[in-house]
Amino acid sequence: TTTLMSGKRGLIMGVANDRSIAWGIAQALAAQGAELAFTYQGDALEKRVRPLAESLGSSLVMSCDVSDDASIDATFEELGKSWESLDFVVHAIAWANRDELKGLYLNTTRDNFVRCMDISCYSFTAVAQRAVPMMREGGSLLTLSYYGAERVMPHYNVMGVAKAALEASVRYMSADLGNENIRVNAISAGPIRTLAASGIGDFRYILKWNEYNSPLRRNVTLDQVGSSALYLLSDLSSGVTGEVHHVDSGYHTVGMMAVDAAPQ
Ligand code: NAD
Repeated sequence: TTTLMSGKRGLIMGVANDRSIAWGIAQALAAQGAELAFTYQGDALEKRVRPLAESLGSSLVMSCDVSDDASIDATFEELGKSWESLDFVVHAIAWANRDELKGLYLNTTRDNFVRCMDISCYSFTAVAQRAVPMMREGGSLLTLSYYGAERVMPHYNVMGVAKAALEASVRYMSADLGNENIRVNAISAGPIRTLAASGIGDFRYILKWNEYNSPLRRNVTLDQVGSSALYLLSDLSSGVTGEVHHVDSGYHTVGMMAVDAAPQ
């Protein structure tokens, strides 16, 4: 039987553990027959990522630090030894100094600003540069964003500025790569309890707020982000590029919910 992703090969970047958004996406893709390769950041994460990858039948597991061009080059060189072509990439990577994911945006330091932009925004472009030559029959590139790119969210600070730049880069790359039948999109996910999210101040309050103020009156799950990613990475979305697709229980559409939406 053929499935949505059978015959398709993709690279998953950003699994840290089984709560990672990248892991939710990987599971949805594998369930539809995709062949996956994984990257992890640093030796400490290898022992977490390798068993997860193997549970989905993948033994292509590589180290990659996206702040280092040589490391990205090495990753794609290694990938090229096993695979002669690539159909999709998932970029689920971001970083900011925890000390500045609370308090005022105004206090952002130059060093944290530059590093956050580099890892959370530029790295998607750097990865695309290496992935595109392998996408011989077109492809799909996907990154992860958050509503803090569009509107002020408490404590998101420099990460909101980086996500705004990331979303703009999705639009520019979609125009650059459209003639090669390579699509570039983002999922703007609602808040999910992950390692990265644990660094954001008052995250429990943010989860509650989103639950009470979303049309669907609940937070999103890894499975829900995974299945939306499956759509954007499969041929089902062959007419979609340059898009920031909200998977947030509809939160982004709301100015104010009615009184009866609040917990009684
Ligand atoms: P996570 O901590 O599981 O994943 C973040 C990943 O980034 C980790 O695997 C980490 O190793 C990787 N990373 C950081 N710096 C790196 C570097 N220099 N090189 C390579 N990898 C590096 O958390 P997550 O929430 O799954 O985050 C994935 C993406 O989803 C991020 O872009 C995040 O901003 C985005 N996102 C998260 C939420 C949320 O509420 N959790 C909501 C919307 C968007």
